[in-house]
Order: sequence, then C-alpha cells, then structure tokens
Amino acid sequence: MISPIPTDVFDPKIELTWQQHIKHAIRTPEALARALNLPIPQGQSNQTKSTFPLFAPLPFVSRIQPGNPQDPLLRQILPTIDEQESAAGYVSDPLKEQEYATLPGMLHKYESRALLVVNGTCAVHCRYCFRREFPYQESLQSAGNWELAIEQIASDTSLQEVILSGGDPLTIVDETIAKRIQQLEKIKHLQRLRIHTRLPIVIPQRITSQLIEILNTTRLAPVIVVHANHPNEIDPVVTSQLQLLSQSRATILNQSVLLRGINDDVTTLIDLSQRLIQCGTAPYYLHQLDPVSGTQHFHVPIERGRELIRQMRNKTSGYLVPRYVQEQPGQGAKTILD
Ligand SMILES: *Cc1c(COP(=O)(O)O)cnc(C)c1O
Ligand code: SF4
Repeated sequence: MISPIPTDVFDPKIELTWQQHIKHAIRTPEALARALNLPIPQGQSNQTKSTFPLFAPLPFVSRIQPGNPQDPLLRQILPTIDEQESAAGYVSDPLKEQEYATLPGMLHKYESRALLVVNGTCAVHCRYCFRREFPYQESLQSAGNWELAIEQIASDTSLQEVILSGGDPLTIVDETIAKRIQQLEKIKHLQRLRIHTRLPIVIPQRITSQLIEILNTTRLAPVIVVHANHPNEIDPVVTSQLQLLSQSRATILNQSVLLRGINDDVTTLIDLSQRLIQCGTAPYYLHQLDPVSGTQHFHVPIERGRELIRQMRNKTSGYLVPRYVQEQPGQGAKTILD
C-alpha cells in the first residue's frame, strides 16, 4: 500500500529521526515530480517560492500514489497556478486574528483559553492553510516574547487552558517543550494544556518516548489535537505511533479542513474517522475553509458540507462525526454549521 520512498534522496533502509526528515524534506515541485513519477512542472514553481514554498517530508510523500496527479495528499502540498488567482472575499487575514493579539504571538479570542503562536515553522506546507499569510515574525519565538506571555497568563486568572499552536509547536525539540511546560504548570489557575500539531501525521517519528514522558508527568491535563484530512494520511507507521501516543495520559483529537477534490465526499470522511478511532483519536472538528487568498479552488459550499455531515450521521456512529465549524471574525466562539 505504501509507495517506496524515493531512493534518489537517501537509502530507505536507514531510519531517520524526525529532525532529519525535516532537513531532507522535498522543497521544489521539480523534486517532488521526480520522486513521484509525475510530469516535471514548467515555470510554476518560482511564483510561490518566496512566500510559501513547497515543503513536504518523505514520510508524507511516501503515502502519495506515484503517477497520480489527482492524489488527495499531493493536492494538499503541490502549488498550482490556481493559487495566483484572486477571488472576491478571499483576503490575507480573513479572521482578523491580529486584532486579538494581546502581544505579538499571543491570541486571546476565546474565553478561558489563550492561544500561543509558538513559532512559524511547520513540518509541511499545506496549500489551503489559513495561516499561510500569518506574520510569523509575530510568533513568540521570533519576537522573544515567551517570558512576557508567561507573565500575562499568570496575571489572568480567567485562563484555564493554554493552547500551543503555530506554525507547529512540535517542530521545537523536546527539551525546550519540557521547559515551557514546566513554566506553564507553575501557574496555579491553569488546568489544561492543548497542543495543536500536524507533526504526528506528517512525521510520525516525532512521537518520541521523551514527548510521551513529558505528557505523562505534567500536572496539566494534556490534549493533543492532530490534523489529518484524508484516510491515506494514516498509514501503518502513523497508526502505530498514534496508538503509542494514545497510551499516554493525553486525550487525542483530530481536526480536518473540508477541501474540494480531497475529502468532500461521505465515503472519504467516514473512512478517515474510522481510521482515526483505530488510532485512539477522536474526530473533533471539520473546518469550513477560511477565505484566505490563493485557496479559493479548495472551497466547498456550506450547504454541501452540511449535507455531508447529515449523510455521515445516517451511516455511522455518532462519535465518528466531527462538528462542522467555521471561524468568523468578531465571534467569541466557533460557529457550528451542522
Ligand atoms: C479555535 C480557536 C481556539 C479554541 O477553540 P475550541 O473551540 O476550544 O477548540 C482558541 N483560540 C483561537 C484563536 C482559535 O481559533
Ligand atoms: S501544518 Fe497547519 S499551520 Fe502548518 S501549513 Fe499545514 S495547516 Fe498550516
């Protein structure tokens, strides 16, 4: 089922660490096309190079069917000329997130929760990403604002939960994560620590024994929200690593984005939920795509999304049906669409 890892990059028999996988990630459409036996793209690649270049590590690429330009994982990572088009209502910051920044890198939008934009680095570049235009110099890491964020959280007793987001907070090494969590757990009013990360899906080797140890020993209740959109993302290695993670104290949830041509059919969505639950991971949210410039070709109408959720509910267990949600600027909670 898994296609061979491209041997022109390195010997597939050698096991790499997650950091090595990031280092050896594919970074150009030409290299990706060569690895997957696809026609070499002509002249498209330069246009997206500077702002949001292709970035895909081999464990993710190995789940793409070679020679299939419509592969649902390929479509998530390969820049296309559709991204150059502009469409009415698609803007660079549709959620007006910056208005909720209490300092660069910290968003306090929802009651009792603070979201920390820990860094701007991801282990994969998803073409539909709502943060593709985020000013990542305003992440805590690059602004050097960690201590300030800790002070603000400590002084606001209405906060019960801190959400580590990014970028992808798990691109940071375990030693640093452990230090950050030690700082957070000293704040008495905090009860929960949530981590929003795509890394366990993209590079499952990221689930290290040290990370599991950190989750098992913190005073805070850990919640990990991973991000997979299609059942093909969950191969046997992802399955066994997520199962390992699910044996820790952490609650594991998944969020997906509803994407045209990728997961906008009921069979795919049910298959995804079934695979997730085999991994001890519960479907949490199905997000309506945020109208970020360059992503309009992924748009699925809300009526279609509602119909898909209705069909899921008729065909499968209630706990396999995620909440269909949308972020709306100025709202103090996500809007439930289903
Ligand atoms: C979605 C979101 C949250 C958390 O929302 P939940 O509904 O609790 O999952 C927190 N902060 C921001 C900025 C968000 O976008
Ligand atoms: S991993 Fe998440 S934040 Fe990073 S590009 Fe993908 S969707 Fe965006």
